[in-house]
Amino acid sequence: MTNKRILITGAAGFLGSHLCDRFIKEGFEVIGMDNLITGDIKNIEHLFKHKEFEFIEHDVTKFIHIPGKLDYILNFASPASPIDYLKIPIQTLKVGSLGTHNCLGLAKEKNARILVASTSEVYGDPTVHPQTEDYWGNVNPVGPRGVYDEAKRFQEAITMAYHTYHKVETRIVRIFNTYGPRMRLNDGRVLPAFIGQALRGEDLTVFGDGSQTRSFCYVDDLIEGIFRLLMSDYAYPVNIGNPDEITIKQFGEEIIKLTGTKQKMILKDLPTDDPKQRQPDITLARKLLGWEPKVNRAEGLKITYDYFKSLSPEELTKTAHRFE
Ligand code: UDP
Repeated sequence: MTNKRILITGAAGFLGSHLCDRFIKEGFEVIGMDNLITGDIKNIEHLFKHKEFEFIEHDVTKFIHIPGKLDYILNFASPASPIDYLKIPIQTLKVGSLGTHNCLGLAKEKNARILVASTSEVYGDPTVHPQTEDYWGNVNPVGPRGVYDEAKRFQEAITMAYHTYHKVETRIVRIFNTYGPRMRLNDGRVLPAFIGQALRGEDLTVFGDGSQTRSFCYVDDLIEGIFRLLMSDYAYPVNIGNPDEITIKQFGEEIIKLTGTKQKMILKDLPTDDPKQRQPDITLARKLLGWEPKVNRAEGLKITYDYFKSLSPEELTKTAHRFE
């Protein structure tokens, strides 16, 4: 036991649940908070047996009351896939702005250090490649992704303001595409989409001509980077991601090979403002945190595929979005 107490918002989500696991393992007392709009209680059910774990169902856009001391806050509450924020745009804006404001106010009140989850989306459709932290981005504020991108940009601004004006200890992680067990099968992201399609015997839907690129980081690597950043003394944004960049078409080919599906790739319309390229420059994380990813895509995809294969047939066929 460390005697340290941490609040993790978005605890029932993909990243939040892995963070809960990690901090329980480190001997922290963990309070997980989630309103379960996009999160799933199944992701954290295994933690209920730990007396150091507590779950509070709460919407962080409303005032957050936590009795007792808090040493750390991780703000991971937000829808995080294009389909989610297209379907719940106002909630997405509110959680990034009002939710972050509440978390920062709580950090100030409790004298706690807070780390907020930002994103490579702050770079928009980037004209600088790979993306360094000092690039300001190319974001369309009124496009469909604007609700997420601008909420996250506002989040960074208000976090820096609390750091500068209220002397709150703040950390900002810019998270690039991450994958692993507990991703939601129907969230529209490319990895669960492709693996789900392969498992159901459907063709893989490639958006556009598949020449757009992404760089995928395995979840354990990301969690390690976040842990190190939280424990560091650096208040400015830090990219955490895997620089191994591939086209979406190549990615589809890898999934076809991995799953052994007989299906093919079919082309669909490219969504509006879909970034053409994305690769983190992780020079800063390497220098500052001594961090770099350790799990290559072949290893990470195998673990993730095994997770999706273990889901029940009902879960696998539940392709409709939760808000439909
Ligand atoms: N994508 C695709 N087929 C799908 C889902 C996504 O080709 O069924 C593409 C999407 O257009 C984007 C890339 O895969 O270029 C990554 O999409 P995702 O939603 O996973 O993340 P983001 O666009 O936020 O990086």
